[in-house]
Amino acid sequence: MNLMLFGAPGAGKGTQAKFLIEKYNIPQISTGDILRAAIADKTDMGMEAKKFMDEGKLVPDSTIIGIIKDRLAESDCKEGFILDGFPRTLPQAESLNELMSNMEISLDKVISLNVPDEFIVGRITGRRICSKCGASFHVEFNPSKEENVCDYCSGELITRKDDNAETVKSRLEAYHSQTAPLIDFYTKMNVFTELDGTKDVSEVTKDMINSLS
Ligand code: ADP
Ligand code: ADP
Ligand code: ZN
Repeated sequence: MNLMLFGAPGAGKGTQAKFLIEKYNIPQISTGDILRAAIADKTDMGMEAKKFMDEGKLVPDSTIIGIIKDRLAESDCKEGFILDGFPRTLPQAESLNELMSNMEISLDKVISLNVPDEFIVGRITGRRICSKCGASFHVEFNPSKEENVCDYCSGELITRKDDNAETVKSRLEAYHSQTAPLIDFYTKMNVFTELDGTKDVSEVTKDMINSLS
C-alpha cells in the first residue's frame, strides 16, 4: 500500500503515521525527520536546509526530490510506504509521479487531515518530539505516558527549534500558497480523501482506518 498523509503543519500527520506503520507494517517517510537527522549529523545538505527550516520556509525542491529518490529506492519500501510531509509543492508532486511511474508503482490514497489554521498554533507550540525516533506528542492533547519520555523508544522528548509562534505564521503561509494547490492535483488523480483532523487522535485513527478498508 502506497499512502500519503496530507495536511497543514501540525495537522497530525506524524501522529497518525505511527498507527499506519503498525497496521500495515510499512515505513513512514517523513522528509522533516530526514532533514532533522541531516542537521543532527551536520551534513552539508542538513546545514543548508536548516536556514530555510529555522525561518519556516520550504527547503528547495531539488534537495527534497533527491532525498525522496534515494529513500524510495531502499528495500524496505518494496511493500509500500507512508509519505508524511512530502510532497509540498507542485514540482515535488510531479517528480513523485514520474519517479513512481518509473518504479511501476502508483499512489493508492492521499489522506488529508483537515485542521483549520486557528487550531494549528496551539498544536505546534505544545508539540514535543522524541529526540531519538521523532515520534510526536502534545503536552495537553496527546501527552506521553511518562513526562518527557517517548512511549515508543524511551528517548527524551524535546521542543523543535521551529515550533514557535513566529515560524508557525510563515509555515502556514507556505502551506496555503505552495502546498494547498496539491488538493486539486490529487483530486484530479482520484486519490484524494478528506478527514476531520480536529477530532481526538483516536477518532481520527478510526476514520483513517475506515477510509482505507
Ligand atoms: P510540519 O509538519 O510541522 O511542517 P515537518 O517536519 O514536516 O513539520 O517539516 C519541517 C520543516 O522541514 C518544514 O517547515 C520545511 O522547512 C522542511 N520540509 C519538510 N518537508 C519538506 C518538503 N517536502 N518540501 C520542502 N520543505 C520541507
Ligand atoms: P504534523 O506531522 O502534521 O506536523 P503532528 O502529528 O506532529 O503533526 O501533530 C502536531 C501536534 O498536534 C503534536 O503535538 C500532536 O501530539 C498533536 N496532535 C496530533 N493529532 C491531534 C489531534 N487529533 N488532536 C489534538 N492534538 C493532536
Ligand atoms: Zn522515540
